[in-house]
Amino acid sequence: MLELRPNCELCDGDLPPDAANARICTYECTFCSDCVDGVLLDVCPNCGGGFQVRPIRPARAWRAGTGLVNHPASTVRARPEQSPEAIAELTARLKDVPPADR
Ligand SMILES: [Zn+2]
Ligand SMILES: [Zn+2]
Repeated sequence: MLELRPNCELCDGDLPPDAANARICTYECTFCSDCVDGVLLDVCPNCGGGFQVRPIRPARAWRAGTGLVNHPASTVRARPEQSPEAIAELTARLKDVPPADR
């Protein structure tokens, strides 16, 4: 199941479960759209992959055992795993390579 992290790993902005601007990579690294579009340029600083819109988990259990009522969002705030220099270096190397070719 997808881990719904509560914040952007880069700017620390809040990303509640219903945030439309939450983006995730294949490892669930989570960032806001401003950071993905303006800083990371669709390069995850932790794995080099691209990003997708994080799906919104329904608040209620439309089917038994589902929804935020059964699987709430994480409350553990994420912190940057890489230095600003390391982020900039990988972004520069991969920003012009489509995610499917990385
Ligand atoms: Zn951000
Ligand atoms: Zn990643």
